[in-house]
Amino acid sequence: MTDTALNLVQSLLYTGDLLQPQGGALAFSAGSKLFEEGDGADCAYMIDSGYVEISKRTECGKKVLAVLGPGEIVGEMALIDGLQRAATATAMHETTAVVIPRQDMWAAINEASPIVRLILMAAMRRLRGTQSPDVNWTDEIDDPLDPQAGLNPYYDATRLTAANQLRARVALEAAIRNNEFELAYQPIVSLIDGRTNGFEALIRWPNPNGQAVSPGEFVPLAEMTGLILPLGAWVLKEALLALKSLDRILEKRGKGDGNVFMSVNVSPRQLESDENVEHLAKMLEQPDVDSSRVKLEITEQALLCDPKKAMVSLSRLKATGASLAIDDFGTGYSSLSYLHQFPLDTMKIDRSFIYRLTNNPGGQRVVAAIIALAHELGMDVVAEGIENASEVQWLQSHSCRYGQGYLMAKPAPLSTAVDYLDRHFEW
Ligand code: C2E
Ligand code: CA
Ligand code: CA
Repeated sequence: MTDTALNLVQSLLYTGDLLQPQGGALAFSAGSKLFEEGDGADCAYMIDSGYVEISKRTECGKKVLAVLGPGEIVGEMALIDGLQRAATATAMHETTAVVIPRQDMWAAINEASPIVRLILMAAMRRLRGTQSPDVNWTDEIDDPLDPQAGLNPYYDATRLTAANQLRARVALEAAIRNNEFELAYQPIVSLIDGRTNGFEALIRWPNPNGQAVSPGEFVPLAEMTGLILPLGAWVLKEALLALKSLDRILEKRGKGDGNVFMSVNVSPRQLESDENVEHLAKMLEQPDVDSSRVKLEITEQALLCDPKKAMVSLSRLKATGASLAIDDFGTGYSSLSYLHQFPLDTMKIDRSFIYRLTNNPGGQRVVAAIIALAHELGMDVVAEGIENASEVQWLQSHSCRYGQGYLMAKPAPLSTAVDYLDRHFEW
């Protein structure tokens, strides 16, 4: 336990009741109180050994509500809703308990989705209501489900965020069902000869009113809700079809040399379970798919969470014959000790580095170092987000072979994108 947590607890408790902490837990003698009804709350406890009686004062004397034992949490209610302790907790025998400081619990609560937070608050209010039916809790705690409520800004904000997220989730589910998504294709161009080598497939959600929802908004929501699994599978399927369409179109034009590749973004959640990875691998291993022309883009962050697991997933995908790119490189503080062990073919330098290139010697040194690192590890380099010719010139002179950005072309429907194959980009 940290000194701060210990001080916190010591300031809250009678020092007389507090025995010496043992092995990271606080010890309470039989009959001493962890807290009393009506106290303010700054921590909860997890009982390590012994038993704690939870009781309330009533007109007829003490009423025992529960007896809690090892592994159970006590004192969390007041910590969550910020109200006074609703009951008294008394050690029944010598009891040890680990302190859960307020800040730790709130850090965990704030990390949860707004829907989970809303459910927690609603459950808390109902629990308080059953424990003290005589108190009108709506006066004290804002009802998260009551549209008229407006007493507590935190609850209000949570309710609004949760409601928006629920609505967006429903809309996203319907859009997947109704096949409302499309792919746009952005060329990845050789900075040496200006030719298009491949495309990145980027998901689009067109809106009936013409205003597309940005993937920057709905992809994170799809990841949070798990809808990225059907959506990601749809993207791969559609991108594989597009690759075939491209070949047919080029063949008709007498130009089918069949070496254009298709990059597809894969979300970290698609790599989380062996089953999901297997699903992707099986799609790539279908007999009519030329997986050697497919590149899977995996963000740096996805590799960081659990590098050993990522290694297994990437090896399985690599075994399909597809190539692998590390996306948004530089944004995730890659563990360089792992980087060389991943079976990666391409490094995509994040747009934020390219944007800072011009007239920025510090930024240039960083990009030059990233390019050297990628080459050292045997990877191709793609610079993302190229918007002006001076960036191309700098990248050319620093051996960056490939680029992608609005300077060459914005993402476009396949019918437009195919024409980029005829072009020879110049800058
Ligand atoms: P990303 O994978 O880094 O994709 C590149 C993003 O940069 C795209 O944004 C692209 O339109 C944009 N971009 C390309 N060149 C330029 C440029 O010169 N300047 C600027 N300012 N932007 C440029 P988009 O299409 O909005 O996608 C945003 C992010 O959404 C993607 O970033 C990717 O993380 C995610 N995403 C898009 N499609 C998919 C998908 O099918 N699956 C998954 N999992 N994520 C996707
Ligand atoms: Ca990408
Ligand atoms: Ca990227």
